[in-house]
Amino acid sequence: MIEVELADRQTVQYIVRRFHLRLKHKLGQNFLIRPDVVRAIAEAAELEAGTPVMEIGPGIGTLTQALARTGANVTAFEIDRSLEEVLAHTMEPYPNVHIIYEDVLKADLPGILGDKTWHAAANLPYYITTPILLYLIQSELPIALFVFMMQKEVADRIMAEPGSKAYGALSIAVQYYCTVEKILDIPPTAFIPRPAVTSTVLRMRRRETPAVVVKEEKLFFRLVKMGFGQRRKVFTNAMKTGGIPSELGEAILARAGVDGKRRGETFSMEEYARLADAWHDLK
Ligand code: SAM
Repeated sequence: MIEVELADRQTVQYIVRRFHLRLKHKLGQNFLIRPDVVRAIAEAAELEAGTPVMEIGPGIGTLTQALARTGANVTAFEIDRSLEEVLAHTMEPYPNVHIIYEDVLKADLPGILGDKTWHAAANLPYYITTPILLYLIQSELPIALFVFMMQKEVADRIMAEPGSKAYGALSIAVQYYCTVEKILDIPPTAFIPRPAVTSTVLRMRRRETPAVVVKEEKLFFRLVKMGFGQRRKVFTNAMKTGGIPSELGEAILARAGVDGKRRGETFSMEEYARLADAWHDLK
């Protein structure tokens, strides 16, 4: 069987015509047409023959093909059943690809992934990037490495450092669980149809232990939420609005050695961790 390059402008256009596809903007259907980009994503995913890798949103199989060519065992979740006929054709040469037609957020991932260690790769649907990412990263699922394409603006927020405009709860949520590396930026011309924005591929590697050790994770994330929920407030006031009585708030700040006149958006993860432990101790 002749293997065609799927991540190619003419191939994608042909498939769209041949299968009478109507690309669904609301499902984030922008297909890659750059073979070098799908190869770079597959390479960044560190796959070897037999590595279990999950993909979110195979679409017509552009990235799936690059993943499959490494010999990895690909399990892909696609919400759009109308792509089933296309994928049956495009994935025919790859017995190592298994497609599950389900919303990845509703699938029984613990049951499907089992206890093997997985890698994950995706050109994520933009309308749901953050919920998918946070769900996979914050869960106890056995995924060690994530190589995800997303809007550059979201990638910038994930990588941001304290005090910068892009720094926020998302930066902390991801950096707490993972180390983050930028792999490459991709222009809108790499897709059909063209999105309005530049995209970025990030590699996120799950840490053995979170970036900071806290006595009670729940308190750490509640403080982060207070700090970024009201970015313009100094932290003393943000704590008050967040339901911590003034006196307790002052005691927490003093015990943690953090100045409550600063805004939460300037705090490092270590400072949030000290505050969380102080709160735990004083509760
Ligand atoms: N991987 C292909 C590529 O790179 O050319 C397509 C990527 S496209 C940006 C996103 C894909 O995710 C679409 O095929 C869309 O139907 C699918 N999708 C959207 N929401 C989904 C969900 N909740 N679960 C699984 N797949 C989803």
